[in-house]
Amino acid sequence: MGLLVAQEPYKRTMKLMGSRFDITVVAKDPVEANGYIDLAVNEITRIEQLISSWDANSQTAEVNRNAGIRPVQVNAELFELIQRAISISKLTDGAFDISYASMDNIWRFDGSMKAMPTAEEIKASVSKVGYQHIVLNKENSTVFLKLKSMKIGFGAIGKGYAADKAKDVLIAKGVVAGIINASGDMNTWGKQPNGNEWNVAITNPMDKNKVFAVLPITNGAVVTSGNYEKYVTFDNVRYTHIIDPRSGYPATGIISVTVFAPKAELADALATSVFVMGKDVGLNRIEQLPKVACIIIDDKGNIITSKNIEIEKS
Ligand code: ADP
Ligand code: MG
Repeated sequence: MGLLVAQEPYKRTMKLMGSRFDITVVAKDPVEANGYIDLAVNEITRIEQLISSWDANSQTAEVNRNAGIRPVQVNAELFELIQRAISISKLTDGAFDISYASMDNIWRFDGSMKAMPTAEEIKASVSKVGYQHIVLNKENSTVFLKLKSMKIGFGAIGKGYAADKAKDVLIAKGVVAGIINASGDMNTWGKQPNGNEWNVAITNPMDKNKVFAVLPITNGAVVTSGNYEKYVTFDNVRYTHIIDPRSGYPATGIISVTVFAPKAELADALATSVFVMGKDVGLNRIEQLPKVACIIIDDKGNIITSKNIEIEKS
């Protein structure tokens, strides 16, 4: 007679990629769970070392240092991530753009900004932004940023990518179910041991200590971008950390976007994109994508959902 070992969910919270991560795995005991979670942490740390623009030793930092100078050879993983990021730029008419990053010395959200940047500063900085100036050479696996002082950064896609990869590692190890939650960028697989779906809570952008909705998610990703985490305020106007790469100014009109997609990487990138595109264009683009849905909350508090979604407000 087979012995049934009860499985339980185990969760660990930690700081990775400069953000809070909550990793939940279903395992038979804490020892097994810890072993699994360590594997996920190693994977996320590996990715951080590849894509961080702060870490001077990363391949990404080397690409940035050589902007306007020469192409830099990168590994296939980084090359392909950049390639996918550029596809999303094309899909969103440049609303999503990893080369927004040269703006990060103009718009700083670490408390060091004391005044609104001048129009001249913004104009000079935004002239270094444009995915069209990222030159990829597949044969040599090189990336070249054509303009001097150009920069790329994965702030709007990296956490989603890391969540996907950590999930893949755990599935390959035979972990039957779990949740990788990268500060609200979530990817789930399997079900709770009691047979129920995983429920994910979406923060209420009007009050970030409250939950706006709780949704069941099976084997998929849900990502929320909000204007309530990182922002600066000048003259009572809130400027969010999501920048329109075409104008150099923070996106306006939306306070929260939640995107559902099979992968967290795509959901992450699209949540940022919809923020920039605004509700009409954003909704239109989302509704053209298979297996993708979204919930937008605008700055008047209106809740707009794509056609294929039903939510029960809590
Ligand atoms: P969060 O990091 O709060 O989850 P997002 O996924 O929306 O939110 O990413 C926002 C981050 O992405 C910013 O902090 C910045 O690093 C970067 N970013 C800002 N605007 C853009 C943009 N238009 N395209 C790509 N990346 C962006
Ligand atoms: Mg994002």
